[in-house]
Amino acid sequence: MSGIGEDLKRVLGGSKVETDPHVIRLYSREPSGLEGMVEAVVFAESASDVSKVLSYAYEKEIYIYPQGSSTDLVGGAYPERPGVVLSLERMRRIKEISVLDSIVVVEPGIRLWNLNEELSKHGYMFPIDPGSVKVATVGGAINTGAGGMRGARYGTMRDWVLGLTLVLPDSEGTILRLGCRTLKCRQGYDLARLMVGSEGTLGVVVEAVLKITPLPENVVVVLSFFPRLEDLVEAVIDIKSRAMDTLLMEFMDADSARLAAETLGASIRPDGHMLLVGVPVNREASERVLGELRSIMAGAKASSIYTARSMEEAEEKKLLEIRRSLFATQAILTQRQFQGRKVMMLMEDIAVPPSRLLDAVKMLRELEERYGFKTVLGGHIGDGNLHPTISYPADDEDAKRRALEWYYEVMKLAVELGGTVSAEHGIGVLKKKALELELERIGSRRALELMRGIKKVFDPKGILNPGKVI
Ligand SMILES: Cc1cc2nc3c(=O)[nH]c(=O)nc-3n(C[C@H](O)[C@H](O)[C@H](O)COP(=O)(O)OP(=O)(O)OC[C@H]3O[C@@H](n4cnc5c(N)ncnc54)[C@H](O)[C@@H]3O)c2cc1C
Repeated sequence: MSGIGEDLKRVLGGSKVETDPHVIRLYSREPSGLEGMVEAVVFAESASDVSKVLSYAYEKEIYIYPQGSSTDLVGGAYPERPGVVLSLERMRRIKEISVLDSIVVVEPGIRLWNLNEELSKHGYMFPIDPGSVKVATVGGAINTGAGGMRGARYGTMRDWVLGLTLVLPDSEGTILRLGCRTLKCRQGYDLARLMVGSEGTLGVVVEAVLKITPLPENVVVVLSFFPRLEDLVEAVIDIKSRAMDTLLMEFMDADSARLAAETLGASIRPDGHMLLVGVPVNREASERVLGELRSIMAGAKASSIYTARSMEEAEEKKLLEIRRSLFATQAILTQRQFQGRKVMMLMEDIAVPPSRLLDAVKMLRELEERYGFKTVLGGHIGDGNLHPTISYPADDEDAKRRALEWYYEVMKLAVELGGTVSAEHGIGVLKKKALELELERIGSRRALELMRGIKKVFDPKGILNPGKVI
């Protein structure tokens, strides 16, 4: 492996290649605690840079790990084996915003938050909003197939990608355009969407054409707590039966909401399971819709109800804070519990049909008891996506074994309830076995062979993000 950094400096120029071990270490890990080590980090500044790197890697058979901000939670971006991290963070230009065409053309390293800051000046937004929105990049979000709190209304990345420019891991580092800049597009097999959720295993995204949508005129927000989970579900059924078009429908169980509020020192005192609902409205309809939501919550026996007439008011009153703090709560808990020790965190990402939520929560609490891990539990109830989260000390082999067993059991219960092992984070290295289980249960084991075939076509030498997904 020696000399790769020097070679790459010759190919790209010294300012684009980093070989300092301290910097390399920063780019070789992800928030779950997984960590690897590579020979160099390349900071590409153009499609041509990416093409040169992939062509060089193809010739020398070097593993390449594409990376946005590395906030992946399933080991998708971290280098499991030796090789080179290919950071796209310097490619962050917005090339075009066209309100008339309802599109934006961007480089992959732009962060979703910064993209939305620009779009909001035009009254538009890009609606995918993972909890990591302030740092998550467009390239990373495309490749994980990210979703977020607005998923029940706006879906995930696959619903918003129209076209991509991709660099292939072949001898030329071929640059390929896929898809269109029109909303309707039939171009044979849909290769652009095949890239969505492919976790950097098929090609490197160097440009994306994304759909955009107008910002809602206003959003009213209600945060309620329910002593009985059954009553919270009644409130959700009532909202859905009235065909209310929700933007947010978020959940946290009673223990986790209380823990989060205590940990954050929040002014809100949770006294039950938490339901956070946001509904987009015209300004004139705000009071009426807010009243309707309040009466739904009261009718379902909520023990406390907090309301906001706008998103700005909801932010001011910190109504979204508890739900947003899922990962942070687990991190703070962990620091208290395992002071000074390196800790690994496992954040699950299952989805079950919302009608099976009660069963899922009950089964998750049983698993918590069986394995003895304090579990912070919340998620997107509107689309049944749950994120139970645990942590354990990295140096405790027995805890690691039990934690990974817990992780697998959670995915198994999702499949048993008719759900899926990953709603939005992807498969990475941590969910490969569970993906096999899911495909087997639905009678699609052959799909794995097809996926392996696709990987071979795009990446014949297997140099791009090896060991991930399949
Ligand atoms: C606190 C927290 C909350 C989160 N909440 C959510 C949530 O609500 N919803 C959700 O969906 N996710 C969530 N995530 C997971 C993650 O943040 C998102 O999936 C995010 O979109 C990843 O972006 P990134 O830039 O960090 O990608 P990275 O982690 O850098 O990369 C992700 C994957 O994409 C590949 N990749 C990156 N860029 C490219 C490129 N240009 N070309 C080819 N491959 C590429 C990588 O190799 C890797 O496989 C959360 C993570 C954290 C830490």
